[in-house]
Amino acid sequence: MSIKGFGHVFSRNPLNRGEVERRSEEDLLTMANRESSLFLAIRDLNIPVNSNRKKSLHWMKRSHHLLDKEIKTAILLGIRGGVYHYAIKIKSGSDIDTFLTHQDQGVDFIDIRTCGQLLAPEDAGIAAQARIQLYWHDRMAFCSLCGSKTFMKRGGQVRQCSSCNTEHFPRTDPVIIVLVHDGEHCLLGQSKGRLQQTNMYSALAGFMDQGEAIEEAVYREVKEEAGIEVMNVKYHSSQPWPLPHSLMIGCHAEAKTKDIQFDKEEMTDVQWFPRNEIIKSLNGESDVLQIPMQLAIAHHLIKAWAKKEIPVL
Ligand SMILES: [Zn+2]
Repeated sequence: MSIKGFGHVFSRNPLNRGEVERRSEEDLLTMANRESSLFLAIRDLNIPVNSNRKKSLHWMKRSHHLLDKEIKTAILLGIRGGVYHYAIKIKSGSDIDTFLTHQDQGVDFIDIRTCGQLLAPEDAGIAAQARIQLYWHDRMAFCSLCGSKTFMKRGGQVRQCSSCNTEHFPRTDPVIIVLVHDGEHCLLGQSKGRLQQTNMYSALAGFMDQGEAIEEAVYREVKEEAGIEVMNVKYHSSQPWPLPHSLMIGCHAEAKTKDIQFDKEEMTDVQWFPRNEIIKSLNGESDVLQIPMQLAIAHHLIKAWAKKEIPVL
């Protein structure tokens, strides 16, 4: 594990977030107007990528049909090598959209999950940050206290109400995801929805409640979803998850009880799986079990346990 973390998809954003550079609104506008500045034009929350074989983010410049109002509302993602990187929102059929989709090289707008699979890790991290921030700004156009319009400050790090002056800060939702084990078996579940009636099982997960420690959330979620009590919760790694603005907090925990009584409102099934079946699944050789792909932190929590890369009981 490097000093910057485990290295999950979406977690390797190389930009310096520019805490100091955001302090002057005037400087921010000056920098946005520089020809060296780069803009990521996001359409319907889809990310522009170059449609050649080497999929990479497609950056625009000030002179590429960007309007003053787009420059003024550009969200500063961060700085790399002295170059300011911004995200802007565009509409289908707008001048920029037409310009982008008719360039010789071509641009594709792709969803963030596909970005996680196609793009180089650094670009995937930037794409995730851009989507998360645009999604939040879209939903904070009005003050949640008095209903008046809000405006952006500090390059998008905050929105302020034009009437009551309340400052609103970007939102991140913490989610615990935990692989429970008893030494030779691990606990996997299938939540209702798109995984239903497949043989895809994953680590148990749920949103943290307010005023709750990570360990408490792990204990509560596992008890609610599977009826199992756990102990010795150990943090493993975390992953920003841009659908829409979560932070996955990955843990392992030891089982204190074994009898499963799963919540039928939330789950289709919960089972104990032996280590050899997990290893078969990791190798693509299991007929009964599919685990999440490498894009997801769940894959790495399961793999770390299966390969005995966490402290044993
Ligand atoms: Zn207000």
